[in-house]
Parts: sequence; structure tokens; C-alpha cells
Amino acid sequence: MTIRAIAQVGAPVLRQPTRELSVVELQTEKWQGFIDDLIETMFDANGAGLAANQVYESVRICAICVRPNNPRYPYKPAIPLTVLVNPRIVPIGDETFENYEGCLSVPDMRGRVTRAARIKVSYLDRDGEAHEKTVSGITAGTFQHEVDHLEGKLFLDRVEDRTTLCTWKNFARYQEAQFAKEVKTIVEKYGS
Ligand code: ZN
Repeated sequence: MTIRAIAQVGAPVLRQPTRELSVVELQTEKWQGFIDDLIETMFDANGAGLAANQVYESVRICAICVRPNNPRYPYKPAIPLTVLVNPRIVPIGDETFENYEGCLSVPDMRGRVTRAARIKVSYLDRDGEAHEKTVSGITAGTFQHEVDHLEGKLFLDRVEDRTTLCTWKNFARYQEAQFAKEVKTIVEKYGS
């Protein structure tokens, strides 16, 4: 396994919509090895997720995993390791919540974005099996962030109130206490 370099904001690969993989392609050694690298790189960087185009492969694959007490996001509910191939998201209902997001491709910057509170995610797992599941709350925000990457979008595009943009240090200093309270309410409401 190889830790791959993470593309930083301004790299064109982050702005190009990725292409879907066929099940036959997915099952090749090349793409199975790539998925191992993607997971390893995500863990190495303490990310909550990582999309293929963040490591310069423009294909529709992302990985998500939040271990308890992730140092970047200590307040996030845990999410088991999930590899999504060709994922599609459809919002359920019109409830939203505000998420304070950061990104491994946007160094030292966080900002508030609005996310759907309940979504339906359909995807293939790394073996090519089709799945569909409902995801809610903070966890739904993480899924939307990663699938946005696969469409060539960054969380920055969704920050409506630009006065919320802040460095990680200033997030901890001025925003984290308030946001942690909001997260508690969201987790109580949606269970994740
Ligand atoms: Zn990101």
C-alpha cells in the first residue's frame, strides 16, 4: 500500500466531475489496490473521508470512516469504514442543518455549509455489490461532502456566509464550543 499525495485547492483534478467505474474495472487489481491506497491515505491524514480525485484519480470512488475521537473532528459520531463506488445521493425531505466543514484539500480553513439532514445513498461496495441506505445528521453531512468531491465541488462553494470562514486554530478558539452544542442537538435528533 502507498500513501498518496493529496491534491490541494487549485488543482484542476478537484474541479472535474469523476467518471463511473464498471464492475469489471472495479474488480481489477489496479482499482482494488487503488482503494487500499485511498483508505491508507485517509487514515494517515486523519480524514473523515477521502475521494479518489483528491489523490489525482478522476473516478467515482470515495472512502469514509470516522473512528471515535478523530483528532480533526473529535465531536463526530463514529462511522464504520465504508467504500462507495459510483455513489448517488438523494435528499429525503427538506430538513437541513448547518455543518462546520473542513477538507484535506483546503488547508487550514473551515466554514459553515448547509446540508440535507436525511439522505438516501445508493452505491456499489468495493466488490461491486449494490447497496442503498438512509443516512442522517452529521454523518449525512460527511457523505454529502465526499460525494460533492466526485462532482468536482468543494465545501467552499457552499459557504453562504463567508464570515464563518476561519483557520483551524480560530475554529478551536472562537467556534468549536458553540458548534459542539449544535452537534449534540443534531445527534440527539437524528442519532448520528
Ligand atoms: Zn474534502
